[in-house]
Amino acid sequence: GAARTTASSMAPSTGKPAVTPDSVINLDHGDPTMFEAFWRETGDAAELVIPGWQTMSYFSDVTNVCWFLEPELDRQVRRLHRTVGNAAVDGYHVLVGTGSTQLFMAALYALAPDAAVAGQPVSVVSTAPYYSSYPAVTDFLRSGLFRWAGDADTFAGDSYIELVCSPNNPDGAIREAVLASRTGNGRAVHDLAYYWPQYTPITKRADHDIMLFTVSKSTGHAGTRIGWALVKDTAIARKMTKFVELNTIGVSKDSQMRAAKGGGWRAAKVLAAVSEGYERRPEQPKGTVTPPPPPPRLFDFGRRKMVERWSMLRAAAAASGIFSLPDETSGYCNFTNQTAATNPAFAWLRCDREDVEDCASFLRGHKILTRSGAQFGADPRYVRVSMLDRDDAFLIFVNRLASLG
Ligand code: PMP
Repeated sequence: GAARTTASSMAPSTGKPAVTPDSVINLDHGDPTMFEAFWRETGDAAELVIPGWQTMSYFSDVTNVCWFLEPELDRQVRRLHRTVGNAAVDGYHVLVGTGSTQLFMAALYALAPDAAVAGQPVSVVSTAPYYSSYPAVTDFLRSGLFRWAGDADTFAGDSYIELVCSPNNPDGAIREAVLASRTGNGRAVHDLAYYWPQYTPITKRADHDIMLFTVSKSTGHAGTRIGWALVKDTAIARKMTKFVELNTIGVSKDSQMRAAKGGGWRAAKVLAAVSEGYERRPEQPKGTVTPPPPPPRLFDFGRRKMVERWSMLRAAAAASGIFSLPDETSGYCNFTNQTAATNPAFAWLRCDREDVEDCASFLRGHKILTRSGAQFGADPRYVRVSMLDRDDAFLIFVNRLASLG
């Protein structure tokens, strides 16, 4: 009831302590707590009650290639992509993973060619600066099937898997595969975690062979650990499913239900709530003159926040006189029907002071934790800074940055 809703909406949702003006501000991880403020306002639209007897079976739909995918999550993923227009879904398999991180590993497993199985590991590459987890996740189990081979731009071999992250983590660049045109011997995996209207104009409906998405960055529910892959080829989809089966025998149904509304489940859930914000025409109640309040719209909230934060950050960098940022780019967004700037989820910040060779340790000295450019295969004069933390931490960060000149 109302009391429970109030109590749960007041409770802190993470173990991170509150910040004060002289706290250490940790913007190393891309923890998307910025979105809490939106979901606190949606009331019970995304609330979930799970009776004790439900979600007990390992299986969801034994007729589907991805037999542990809840059919309702499949439907809501397709519905959201149709609403936003950011990716094609017709003719694709939807696969679910424990975050898109698990599906990234599943893709490497599925794409490793016969030569890799016979003992020649395939090279995994991505243009620098690349997401720091790509090398770490590729190599931590020392697989005989694949191994990290660094920057795609300087790669010279002919058997490879190219990771294409667009908009790119860490620098927000819009990217395309660089190797695909050079040789037919490689495969690409498109990581589209940030291809949502709060971060970038939606300029085309992506239709690559393997596309990865996650609720972590689309709705902010990183802790729910739900990612999905859109996969064209059935044999690849089967192999990726096999990986998840061997790795974790499926994906938490409780989390899948949190992400999607289910038949018999009482409330609409996260992805459904986002689609409904853009589809539902609120009805005018009979005999009233004031229109009903518009449904909460996640991408409007996200874009407003990101525009505000990027303008504050650019002002702070300019005030400091020692930091620079990538130039703003823009494009026509087919979702909002407006020209919009890109507002990346991370700032790729460069320290221009001659005597500072390691920007991350310089900022650490001022109690700002960031991730060094070195971890992305780039110059340590750069750092990656999360733009998705809570308002209080972000405010302290920009004020402190402005004062560092
Ligand atoms: N890809 C990219 C580019 C990311 O930035 C992240 C999260 N930092 C992920 C994948 C992993 O997301 P998930 O939480 O779904 O595992």
